Amino acid sequence: MECSLAQKGVQIIAVEPGSLAEEAGLRPGDTLLEIHGEAVLDQLNYQFLITREDEAELLVQRPDGSTFMASVENGGEGIGVDLAQDEVKVCKQNCVFCFVHQMPKGFRKSLYLKDEDVRLSFLYGHFTTLSSSDDAELDRIIRERLSPIHVSVHATDPEARVKVVGNPREGHILRKIDRLLAGGIDVHTQAVVAPGLNDGAIWQQTVDDLWARYQEGRGSVLSLSCVPVGLTAHRENLPSVQDVDAVFAREWVARWAPEVRKYAKANDGEPWLLLADEWFTRAGIEVPGRVFYSRSWAQLENGVGLVRRFLEHSRRFIKSPRAKGFAGRRVLLLTGSSFAPTLSRVAAELNRAVGSQLRVVPARNFSFGDSVTVAGLLCGEDLKYAAHADRDAHARQQERGGRKDWVDAVVVPSSSLRTHTGPTDQYTLRGVVVREEGTFLDDLTLPQMAAELGVPTVPSGANLSHLLDHLEAADRGAFRGGALTSAFHTAGLNLPQGAYNP
Ligand code: SF4
Repeated sequence: MECSLAQKGVQIIAVEPGSLAEEAGLRPGDTLLEIHGEAVLDQLNYQFLITREDEAELLVQRPDGSTFMASVENGGEGIGVDLAQDEVKVCKQNCVFCFVHQMPKGFRKSLYLKDEDVRLSFLYGHFTTLSSSDDAELDRIIRERLSPIHVSVHATDPEARVKVVGNPREGHILRKIDRLLAGGIDVHTQAVVAPGLNDGAIWQQTVDDLWARYQEGRGSVLSLSCVPVGLTAHRENLPSVQDVDAVFAREWVARWAPEVRKYAKANDGEPWLLLADEWFTRAGIEVPGRVFYSRSWAQLENGVGLVRRFLEHSRRFIKSPRAKGFAGRRVLLLTGSSFAPTLSRVAAELNRAVGSQLRVVPARNFSFGDSVTVAGLLCGEDLKYAAHADRDAHARQQERGGRKDWVDAVVVPSSSLRTHTGPTDQYTLRGVVVREEGTFLDDLTLPQMAAELGVPTVPSGANLSHLLDHLEAADRGAFRGGALTSAFHTAGLNLPQGAYNP
């Protein structure tokens, strides 16, 4: 079957000693062409094919081009091979608010990667517009049960959708969604909302159309989130798009927060319509309580509920004996200006409870512009600048008789150490691995920053408990170089997903 993700087999890079694959004569460097007579497209497809039956018929190609068949009784399990990384599927759309188009020049190549890959949508919750998915690919999703999938709808009105995705052939997203639902695939959906583009009646229609598809077919539209558009200061030669300012955000919250409750009521109390945290932070309004978010925190990675979850965890943590680990610590917490008020409140509560001295400083985003306020898009130089400014202010106080030393540690947002590609590190772009661990967007590394600041510098982690782990690790001198890389994988305090997502 032809498929837009099709490749000519997948290369084997390692064979486990004593495995079924070794017994069958498979070797590193061979290419797995077919299983049960079906072409092996990629790693995900291999998993589907190899686990489908108790016995697998393999067609394998040697590096010299010769082929042979092997039969393996695997009982529906893997056969002990590691396969080469897949190439990520690159987007060819032209969305008016595509974040990649608004990137300043000069960053590393991997940050300009526009992925539009249904495999990443299934595996990691990346949103896809489905614009690059043809019928064969939709059939593959159904056949391999890649459910749920995350779809950027933006607008169900064909004319509005064409404008948003910049592709005249991609107005009819509902046709694709309906095909998936009929095939038993569940779908999480989102719309990035820009004033005058897909708000008002167009948004209302989007909500109505998608709600009508909740438990409509064999599959269901499980949720719909709305995220305010993210614009940078680098929109040269791009269509004009109006930003979401505080007034618009306040009106949006006033109009749609009650609707969240209405849909939740019609859905056994489980929220279906979701508002991203950024609506509240841009409006300067406290995020709502736990009942506003789905029980499973659906779309957390899309910036829905991160602040509430952080607050909930923090309040429990501050009451726990473990919180005393912060006692006496003098720490500078750097974050984006949208999250700074929340973090400052939590830091003040912790300080009062255990006698710590945590201070929060919002870092200005010089790299992308002041309109970008999320922590995850701060570059190393932005964070370093904020830390230096704070240290200079401290030095001036010191001259006037203030405390001698500055802080014991500086904390940077974990999300700023994650790249756009995030989990795409398993994938490659024409053979180039795109993951760069412990590196800010502008290639400054955490150890470099620590060396320049002259104090331990650690990632925040997703909550206060992670943060304390990192500070204690720094006490032990464990936070050097590539050590504790797991810290970089913990979710950030404020992910930039809204800005990145298609
Ligand atoms: S927003 Fe996403 S789908 Fe749209 S052009 Fe950018 S990468 Fe492609």
